[in-house]
Amino acid sequence: MAEEGETFMILYDQHVHSQFSYDSYALRSESSEAAARSGIAGLTFTEHYETCVPEQRAPFFADSTARVGVELGSGQLNASATRDYLARYPFDIVLGSVHFDPDGEDYYTYHPASVSEHIENMRRYFEFHLSLIADGQFDVIAHLGYPLRYNNSFGLTMEQLREDEAAGSALLAVLKALIAGGKGLELNCSGGFYPSLGILREYKALGGELITIGSDSHVTGAGADRLKLGAELLKEAGFTKYALYSGRKPEWINL
Ligand SMILES: [Zn+2]
Ligand SMILES: [Zn+2]
Repeated sequence: MAEEGETFMILYDQHVHSQFSYDSYALRSESSEAAARSGIAGLTFTEHYETCVPEQRAPFFADSTARVGVELGSGQLNASATRDYLARYPFDIVLGSVHFDPDGEDYYTYHPASVSEHIENMRRYFEFHLSLIADGQFDVIAHLGYPLRYNNSFGLTMEQLREDEAAGSALLAVLKALIAGGKGLELNCSGGFYPSLGILREYKALGGELITIGSDSHVTGAGADRLKLGAELLKEAGFTKYALYSGRKPEWINL
């Protein structure tokens, strides 16, 4: 129930994993029920499909009446296979994702040796997105800033990276390329908020409108509270609406 003075928001979680992802045991039916109990209007299941890691791929359309998308990892590296794959299934949303650096190293296990190395690594991370965006086989970029979620021993923030000459201009180029290409940005609410408030504000100021929210939840019932905080963050950044994708087309939901 909404408290007095609290505005009622219709929230769709468009980044959810289930037992069809290699790193989740959540049952789709149980996650859908838990979300409904928490006041979430609907889930979009976005299972992993890493184009370069066959063991991180899964079937997607079994056992669900919910929206179904895919979290597609570095699709630009296998562009024609990605094209064939996406043509095969009627996805609601395709999240463009980067989990591995351009040399194939997993950001999840990356440990920078110095702050300057970490900043340089993040510059490469942002520049890697430019080839993903140029290839264009996705709707929304997932969790921009993702490597900061793990092993961030120097406490780097997105805002600090934006101030760095090289990493910052690469990050700015990503935001501009998304807008120019008609692609969207996700606010990912797992392990922090990615991207952060300052970057959301800049995206908005540059003319970015296409924005989605996702909990990136891998566990049943874990996403609702984070999603609500994320929606408040979007409002703080100046957004008055977000995009809900069905059949890879956005419609607007008021915040
Ligand atoms: Zn991801
Ligand atoms: Zn995910």
